[in-house]
Amino acid sequence: MVIKTTEFVKSSGKWQECPEPNLPEYAFIGRSNVGKSSLINAMMNHKDLAKTSQTPGKTQLINHFLINENWYLTDLPGYGYARVSKSMRKDFEKINTNYILNRQNLVNLFVLVDSRHSPQQIDIEFIEWCGESGIPFSIVFTKADKLKPNTVNANVEIYRNELLKSWEELPDMYVTSAEKKIGGDEILEFITKTNEL
Ligand code: GDP
Repeated sequence: MVIKTTEFVKSSGKWQECPEPNLPEYAFIGRSNVGKSSLINAMMNHKDLAKTSQTPGKTQLINHFLINENWYLTDLPGYGYARVSKSMRKDFEKINTNYILNRQNLVNLFVLVDSRHSPQQIDIEFIEWCGESGIPFSIVFTKADKLKPNTVNANVEIYRNELLKSWEELPDMYVTSAEKKIGGDEILEFITKTNEL
């Protein structure tokens, strides 16, 4: 897919405030600092469409971008900030889970995990929740340039095995690097193929 136009549409504090669900939508989520903004910017060929490193504790919003005038890219608040209060963490979770469960035009959720780390409990729990809730999603490994390819593959394998403990079928997985512009094209290809309501 060639990215011709990218347009910020709006920030919403809850799913009811999101733009009318009249176009296919693809959302990106992950722990804060996972590299979500960088990957979105790399895929969109844009320096600062999504803001990098949002300050933990700031109001977290659902950001909608209109791409090529025919689909929405949604940047969801990061989960798992270590340094915010429990009640604030609960608020982030509520924004995200309500959006994910209710957004009727959501075609796919891309769940980002850092390729350098072994499966983290918070990510596994979130991924399992997506599976149990019947949410269409894929796993996106970020920052792959920081490791040797063999180590990335080994870490992906560890993830697969972890998920196979409870599932028979695995979601699609993408290995990416915003820094080296790897993997974004595969994600865009998937979006091209599924871009229908
Ligand atoms: P977000 O909080 O998930 O939006 O994460 P950011 O996109 O702000 O990235 C967090 C940090 O990781 C920043 O310092 C980025 O420069 C760095 N980072 C993000 N993606 C990559 C990548 O693909 N490779 C490398 N080496 N660093 C990255």
